[in-house]
Amino acid sequence: MDSLKAELLESGASVAGFADVGGIVKGDIAHLDRAISIGVIKKLNEDTVHLLGRLQKIAAIKLKERGYRYLCIPPDSDRAAGEKPFISRLYPLFTHKVAATLSGLGWIGKNGLLISPVHGSRISLATVLTDAPLKTGQPIINSMCGECTLCIDHCPSQAITGRQWCQEDPYAELVRIKRCAAHKKNSRPTEGKPNCGLCINICPFSRNNMIKPPRRVEAALAEE
Ligand code: SF4
Ligand code: SF4
Repeated sequence: MDSLKAELLESGASVAGFADVGGIVKGDIAHLDRAISIGVIKKLNEDTVHLLGRLQKIAAIKLKERGYRYLCIPPDSDRAAGEKPFISRLYPLFTHKVAATLSGLGWIGKNGLLISPVHGSRISLATVLTDAPLKTGQPIINSMCGECTLCIDHCPSQAITGRQWCQEDPYAELVRIKRCAAHKKNSRPTEGKPNCGLCINICPFSRNNMIKPPRRVEAALAEE
């Protein structure tokens, strides 16, 4: 399975990693103790959900060929999923951000989104849970937002609380969801859907995703 990550990246994933989720996944699927986290940079002119689905299928085929069990958790950006009863039941089983941080793909920023040091918070995520003994990445356990307050300062609904995420306090209220949702509802829709995204666009990691991450982040990642 060593080649799976490279295959996902070659097939269009912007980031991919493997996480140990033993003890986090509960109930009937507790035996699926590894997570394959797949991220794709959101682009308005590309069908991100479709691409993530295709990447999940690549992983699923490979796992099946080798006799491993797996479960694909649908992409977080699949806005139509709520209308599909089976898919919507899968969402509560697992949070994509958990797999992403545990695989070392990034941290949860003050804007409540995964921040990839390379691609910022434009990443849309999907996960495949499996019992394959994948070699896992180094988890990121602390926020690297530092003193930055750009998303807080620019959020039009004052929805961002300013708290820092860390793995020990994963449910800290980073974003007041109701305020954010109310603002989006009253904003001009993009492609017919409620939208805002200022906290994504203003993030230095998103804006500078073509240049190297700040030195302090490079240093911190090297220490992880
Ligand atoms: S999407 Fe807009 S309203 Fe919601 S948290 Fe981000 S900046 Fe604030
Ligand atoms: S804008 Fe600054 S504080 Fe907000 S998520 Fe990005 S780095 Fe973190």
